[in-house]
Amino acid sequence: MRRLGRAGVALGVAIALGAVCAGDAARLAPPAVAQPSFTPGAPGVGDRYLPEAGNGGYDVHHYDLQLRYDPGSGQLDGHEVITAVATQNLSRFDLDFGRLAISALTVNGTGARWSKAGQELVITPSAGLRTGRRFSVDVRYAGQPGTGPDAKTVDTGFIRSRTGAVAVDEPTGAEDWYPVNDHPRDKASYTFAITVPAGVTAVANGVLEGTQATGNNETTWRWHEDAPMASYLATVAIGRYRVQTGPGNLFIAVADTLPPAKVDAVLARTPEIVQFLAGMFGPFPFDSLGGIVPAEPRITYALETQTRPVYGSTFFDRDNATTVLAHELTHQWFGDSVSLHDWRDIWLNEGFATYGQWMWDEHTGQGSMRDHFEEYYGKTDVWDPPPGDPGPDKLFAPSVYVRGAMTLQALRMTVGDATFFRILRAWADGHRYGTGTTSEFIDLAARLGGGSVRGLLNTWLYSPGRPPHP
Ligand SMILES: [Zn+2]
Repeated sequence: MRRLGRAGVALGVAIALGAVCAGDAARLAPPAVAQPSFTPGAPGVGDRYLPEAGNGGYDVHHYDLQLRYDPGSGQLDGHEVITAVATQNLSRFDLDFGRLAISALTVNGTGARWSKAGQELVITPSAGLRTGRRFSVDVRYAGQPGTGPDAKTVDTGFIRSRTGAVAVDEPTGAEDWYPVNDHPRDKASYTFAITVPAGVTAVANGVLEGTQATGNNETTWRWHEDAPMASYLATVAIGRYRVQTGPGNLFIAVADTLPPAKVDAVLARTPEIVQFLAGMFGPFPFDSLGGIVPAEPRITYALETQTRPVYGSTFFDRDNATTVLAHELTHQWFGDSVSLHDWRDIWLNEGFATYGQWMWDEHTGQGSMRDHFEEYYGKTDVWDPPPGDPGPDKLFAPSVYVRGAMTLQALRMTVGDATFFRILRAWADGHRYGTGTTSEFIDLAARLGGGSVRGLLNTWLYSPGRPPHP
């Protein structure tokens, strides 16, 4: 309606000007046209936990990332082209970006003013961007991103070792290595062209399009992920890797210093685990799969990077290492395809992934779902904070995982197996490639499982302490 209104104003002016001769028109003062007003995009998407994450006023459709990385120096040279659509008349807009130095920036091919304020990269194009119109941002930047090899510990972001690098970005590490609208609400497709020294492997998300020698004793690795992807799920892993490939664009990369019998053999079970999970959750949502195990002992976690999770190498010292694969691969449905709309909804990722992990454990004789539930139900330290609203500092609290998964088991014990899996499949299907909220999940469960589950889920997700046994 607003756009139609503006078009009507512009048309009226054109007719009025047409009524005077050219000579008169030249002498006239600029007509008092009712110009659409252009305002700055918001510096955050309005997340309840991370209010500054992401930005408002536009929707990114695609990130094209051309990166050159030198593992010796840790130097990254980036050339990024973002394709986006304005969702308001924009006088300026923000991207999220860390501390790498920008050398050139254009919007729609024209130089734009920009400045940095903390993580906000504030861009003022030479002309306002009209709502509904596509625009492009072209940025060249360089520097040494993220956490260096001398850091004793690593958190998330772009992590450098002496032999390579890996990006693991939850929740807001992506801005370490590329300018980005850094929130899962703005998912986009990606292409990567990563140039590294010959003999070094560069892995990213999605399908490997090919590799190409540059003539400068370097190789460019081209990847594309066509399915919408949240920014924190984008990854690059650079180093010396052994590679396994297979049907369905399988691409598994294990650092060549890790023991094959311990690591490669476990990763090789990725398709089998995906098939098992698909039997419960519906079709695997992506057109490629795999995994990455970097030689970086400081990474003591795993992350569900889309199509290709990153696993810390220490997981493979354990006997039942497939359990972590089941967790990260369940995230491909819950977290990656169906992303959280707000970081407060984190249990929709972690409770579900833990549930898939327990299902795999049951399948492999590591204890039944019921056993897991009863074992944890007897504990005192898995209840708080309640998983539906853990608070921004407790995003990854154990209760988000354990009580989150127990919430799903309590639902299953209440509605029965058939209805329970109908709910999970409807959730995966109905929100595929988009986002979902906890209240939308409760609504779905109540619609398929009966109104009484609303109270059950509210208690399990939001009440402090141990809920009544279902
Ligand atoms: Zn997880």
